[in-house]
Amino acid sequence: MPENTHVVVIGGGYAGVMAANRLTRRDDVAVTLINPRPDFVERIRLHQLVGGSHDAVVDYRDVLADGVRLVVGTVTRIDAAGRDVALATGGTVGYDYLIYAVGSGSADPGVPGAAEFAYPIATLETAERLRPVIAAAPATAAVTVVGAGPTGIETAAELAEAGRAVTLVCGEVLGPYLHPRGRRSVAGRLAALGARVLEGPDARVTAVTRGTVRLGDGRELPSEVTVWTAGFAVPDLAARSGLSTDAVGRLLTDETLTCVDDARIVAAGDSAAPSDLPLRMSCQAAMPLGARAADTVLSRIAGERPSPLNQVFAGQCISLGRRGGIFQFAHRYDVAVWFHIDGRPGAKLKEFVCRGIVKHLSDEARKPGSYHLHRVPGGPRRRQLLRTGPDRAPAARRNEPA
Ligand SMILES: Cc1cc2nc3c(=O)[nH]c(=O)nc-3n(C[C@H](O)[C@H](O)[C@H](O)COP(=O)(O)OP(=O)(O)OC[C@H]3O[C@@H](n4cnc5c(N)ncnc54)[C@H](O)[C@@H]3O)c2cc1C
Repeated sequence: MPENTHVVVIGGGYAGVMAANRLTRRDDVAVTLINPRPDFVERIRLHQLVGGSHDAVVDYRDVLADGVRLVVGTVTRIDAAGRDVALATGGTVGYDYLIYAVGSGSADPGVPGAAEFAYPIATLETAERLRPVIAAAPATAAVTVVGAGPTGIETAAELAEAGRAVTLVCGEVLGPYLHPRGRRSVAGRLAALGARVLEGPDARVTAVTRGTVRLGDGRELPSEVTVWTAGFAVPDLAARSGLSTDAVGRLLTDETLTCVDDARIVAAGDSAAPSDLPLRMSCQAAMPLGARAADTVLSRIAGERPSPLNQVFAGQCISLGRRGGIFQFAHRYDVAVWFHIDGRPGAKLKEFVCRGIVKHLSDEARKPGSYHLHRVPGGPRRRQLLRTGPDRAPAARRNEPA
């Protein structure tokens, strides 16, 4: 009888869980998922965890296929030549194929005082550190949210709706991704919630102290709690392991998500850089990338040629507290269009999306192979970018998060 093929997945987020579940389609494939925590984290609800409206942890038993072996641990090094990974606790795990899905966390703010006095929100641990700080602050305490991408907007709205005195410091423009019509809608909702929005070239935080933030024009704003949401960064595991990465450290792959250095390694999610082309770090991309990564491995095991990526975006779905939200629609190549759905229908749509994502994972756990969204054609834009190179991509849409 032929021996099982062993696939190790590093990282149990959206991409890693999707990939691990899908791999269980074959009985002769043994799947090990390595993740630092024993629970699945719904990162897209971390602002809700901070605001107290929802938690962000799901039992792996609800989203992970029974056939997947979960190892709670952190990978410290990939030995591509030896085909094994080293764990922080000691020991190694060997593999036939490896899926690299280590996701992202907060980017280094690079602003004096921010690392010491501001609270990032991009991971469970940082969000859990912030939650009691917010809860303990008096209701009138000034709260500053730095960064007005979707994470900053969602956090500001969540906290303002909970009665907090919130200032959102945009660093130029509110919601750079949004169409002007969508931006007006978001600004209106934030104003209705009582959040102050600072935009323009001076609305850039240049320093943070225990009780203030300083802006580009020298103004100092009181800030009892400063929340840092400006940008994601990826773990340096690939680079540390001597594998090729893009400029921000994501594992460089071809269009089948196969590592350019080693056909046994495949990447998915925020930590993948297919063809070094612009690809927004997002849950929206992580799920189909996870499915594509698994399909690539399954094709190789079957001796077939893997299919290339179809990357398609629908837009950006942003919660604005529990009673408001916006679905900003976009071209398939990820540039916003004039149309959006806002207000309560926008909020309902966002909640539907959040639940739908967990449902996709649990459906794939029960019925591996049932997920199909990674097969939706991405349109001609990616093929065009592959021919002409990334410089012609819309500058604002390059690898900005969520
Ligand atoms: C507040 C907030 C709201 C968001 N809202 C949206 C949204 O509405 N829509 C959207 O599309 N995106 C949203 N995002 C972004 C989205 O959460 C990420 O893009 C998504 O989680 C990426 O999925 P992933 O599987 O690549 O990585 P992750 O979900 O980050 O999972 C990676 C996993 O790998 C683990 N890991 C890391 N290093 C190692 C290691 N060395 N060894 C083992 N395991 C490791 C991590 O601990 C983690 O569990 C939001 C993010 C935040 C913070």
